[in-house]
Amino acid sequence: MKLVLSAHHLEKQKEFRHFAEEEMNGNDQFPRKNLLKAGKRGYMGLPIPVEFGGQGEDFLTYILLIEEISRVCASTGVIMAVHTSVGSFPLLYYGNHEQKEKYLNGLASGKLLGAFALTEAGAGSDAAALMTRAAAVEGGYRINGCKLFITSGGEADIYTVFARDDKEAGSRGITAFLVEKKSAGLIAGKPEKKMGLKLSSTTELRMENLFVPLSNRLGAEGEGFKIAMSLLDGGRIGIAAQGLGLARASIDYTTNCYREKEKRGIKTGQQSAFILANLATRLEAAKLLTYRAALLKEEGKRCSKEASMAKICATDLAMDAAIKCIDLCGFDNNLSQYFCDAKATQIYEGSNQIQRIVVAREMLKE
Ligand SMILES: Cc1cc2nc3c(=O)[nH]c(=O)nc-3n(C[C@H](O)[C@H](O)[C@H](O)COP(=O)(O)OP(=O)(O)OC[C@H]3O[C@@H](n4cnc5c(N)ncnc54)[C@H](O)[C@@H]3O)c2cc1C
Repeated sequence: MKLVLSAHHLEKQKEFRHFAEEEMNGNDQFPRKNLLKAGKRGYMGLPIPVEFGGQGEDFLTYILLIEEISRVCASTGVIMAVHTSVGSFPLLYYGNHEQKEKYLNGLASGKLLGAFALTEAGAGSDAAALMTRAAAVEGGYRINGCKLFITSGGEADIYTVFARDDKEAGSRGITAFLVEKKSAGLIAGKPEKKMGLKLSSTTELRMENLFVPLSNRLGAEGEGFKIAMSLLDGGRIGIAAQGLGLARASIDYTTNCYREKEKRGIKTGQQSAFILANLATRLEAAKLLTYRAALLKEEGKRCSKEASMAKICATDLAMDAAIKCIDLCGFDNNLSQYFCDAKATQIYEGSNQIQRIVVAREMLKE
């Protein structure tokens, strides 16, 4: 497997870095302007095939995009990662022709924003315990229930919602649905007051007698859990990329501070140099794990263990780098922002404890 970035990847990386640094800003409540600009460049559908309105780039190129965006604005990074990995891929992989025609072009061009609604109050790590109900009625389903912590809740146009149509069948009783924002009975709560990722809206999503036509069922009845789980590897690699971006933000910022100190003749000491060198070394390791997982996914190979390892390594580093860089620089607004943004990356798309369970389970299987 080739782990060195190709000339094309390097060129794209440069392009994404320039875009993120020059064109994104964080003044909006919800970074709609950043998303519109990203859409104009084709970044909202980067790995979606050209025939469905995307750019047809490989998964690694998409990962490089999320890394660069997250280095500058982690909120925009998570919105774009969710929109693509678990907002658009469900349609690409499981949508029928009509569903792709109706939604995928819009998602890939950035005209529509996608979201993913799996988590509930009693079903986070144990997603199979979800209780949202889908009852078959004439022409479709009536959905009742409540989802929690939905990224882009109230802002997204299309939600992939998971609901139970069979109480007895455990994880086999779950079905996936495409729910439009404008549907009667879909109610987004107020954005959660989070410690970080402040520009990204995270809300409750209530469904009260919500009617979903049969044409918006994604895949077969009972296939929902399999669909959700199959998307998570890609999603986790996307969050690993977000971790890389955040870790780099802390390390770059602190290295620059230290460079300035040295220029001014202030001695920074060997202990600080060792901390920075260790962080930079861990960053390279996290990059290799993340890019390897992306390459495996692109090749269509099983990559659950590799995706989980990448997420653990990159997001734990994002948190650790922020803490250590605050130790090195003292209180600083930029570093405290990276610290606050990094915490959620250890939690969503499966907490890092769950990732360790995945890695250990796969090791025991080998
Ligand atoms: C900012 C943010 C955005 C999010 N966006 C989305 C979204 O768009 N869509 C969506 O569906 N969900 C979303 N989530 C939900 C997220 O995926 C869940 O929070 C996550 O899966 C953890 O579930 P939980 O919060 O219910 O915690 P729990 O599952 O209740 O876990 C609590 C703690 O126990 C640990 N734990 C649980 N089970 C085990 C076990 N078996 N062994 C060891 N430790 C265990 C966990 O690691 C965690 O530390 C988001 C969350 C956040 C914070």
